[in-house]
Amino acid sequence: MILLSKFKPIRFRLPACGALLALLLGVGCGEEPDPLRGVILIAIDTLRADRVGAYGAARPTPALDGLAEQGVLFENTISYGARTRPSFAATLSGRFPTRRDFDRVLLRSLVSRLKNGGFQTVAFTEGGELSRIYGFDRGFDYWWEQETPVTARDSLSPGIDRTFSMAQDWLRDAAGDQRFFLFLHTYEVHLPYRRLEYAKAIPRGDFPVTFETGDVGRLAAGELEAGVTERNYVNALYDGGVAMADRHVGNLLEVLEETGRRENTLIVVLSDHGEELGERLSHYLGGHGHTLYDELLRVPLIIHDPLRTYPEKRVRAQVRSIDVLPTILDRVGLTLPADSHGKSLLPVMEGRMRSDRMALSQTFKNGVKLRSAVRAKSRKLVRNSPRAEPVLPRTQAFDLRVDPGEESNEIHENPTWVGEFQVFLDNHETLERREGVPHFGSPKDMPAELKERLRSLGYVE
Ligand SMILES: [Zn+2]
Repeated sequence: MILLSKFKPIRFRLPACGALLALLLGVGCGEEPDPLRGVILIAIDTLRADRVGAYGAARPTPALDGLAEQGVLFENTISYGARTRPSFAATLSGRFPTRRDFDRVLLRSLVSRLKNGGFQTVAFTEGGELSRIYGFDRGFDYWWEQETPVTARDSLSPGIDRTFSMAQDWLRDAAGDQRFFLFLHTYEVHLPYRRLEYAKAIPRGDFPVTFETGDVGRLAAGELEAGVTERNYVNALYDGGVAMADRHVGNLLEVLEETGRRENTLIVVLSDHGEELGERLSHYLGGHGHTLYDELLRVPLIIHDPLRTYPEKRVRAQVRSIDVLPTILDRVGLTLPADSHGKSLLPVMEGRMRSDRMALSQTFKNGVKLRSAVRAKSRKLVRNSPRAEPVLPRTQAFDLRVDPGEESNEIHENPTWVGEFQVFLDNHETLERREGVPHFGSPKDMPAELKERLRSLGYVE
């Protein structure tokens, strides 16, 4: 049992009926309050959509598949970032970030709207690129993050076990009666890959038993070579992490059941980006952030609302991760800033809106943009800087209906759709000229512990 005192920063407030509260919550004193008591956003970092059973993966993910069965699954969800920090900056703000809004602090975080709307806002995260040092704790009453290196997670830092048990203890012992927004984040699926569940039964060729962050560098340096056997092995290790994350989601659902919260808690599952698993270049195995190909941008998105039935069970229209917080705000009756780029998905879930939403995705290094892509469900245009590794053509155009693997660049055939996509990217560049390209760099005064944790995740040289 964990003492309640560890959650001390949270202030408990029972709702009282008053004019201000009624204004904030959008209810009058005589009206029935919304029976929805809580929202849980579960972010499984680095989880590719195609590795979830409900998205067609060969290996099952029973907890996520069950949630998808009961809720709404979005088949085509595109992330803004191919790395953690840009991606969460966009998701938590509902915006395609510019420097004005995101220079170290998430000035536009929509979490503040939930807090101001009467929700206690709580986060249990695995830190690193999602550390409070970058301002991600903005709007949260209580923010907890893991601080020891992930490479030590079997001894010093127990990773997902700790994160999820903290959240479960909070739900059992500290959540109280106030409505809540709980943000839960794990690096379980991220490097290092150490879950042998599927891997132990198959050959590993020349590879070590577990796949560590240092092995990515050894691959790039040619000290390790990944053939079909090794790639299959690493894929099985990755899927072992997915299975572990799925089990923890299952445990969390049981705790919600136990505490009587399952029937009045909205659950959203999302990832921030995918992962390279050797399908494109054999040495791009176990990493992300290099490119904007679909294995990095297609993420799972499942929403289960126990209090409402939506006619759309599997949404085929393309949506974006920036639409997730606007959807949560809409569902709890809070307004969205007028200049938000993200929009609520409720009309999509209700079958009133079926059009694709244009998705912007970008990569950066030290305040310099390296790549940007605009994607509709069947088409994608990518602009690459010659400074980006690997070096790719300056402009790539893919017709995803006939070329889902993005292997055939059609830019020289000058397809008619390209113009509209160029204008979309040009417009965003105009905004960036006015408001600045976000830096997403690390502060000089970064604490030593965070530096070590980032190094263990492969982010600091
Ligand atoms: Zn990430």
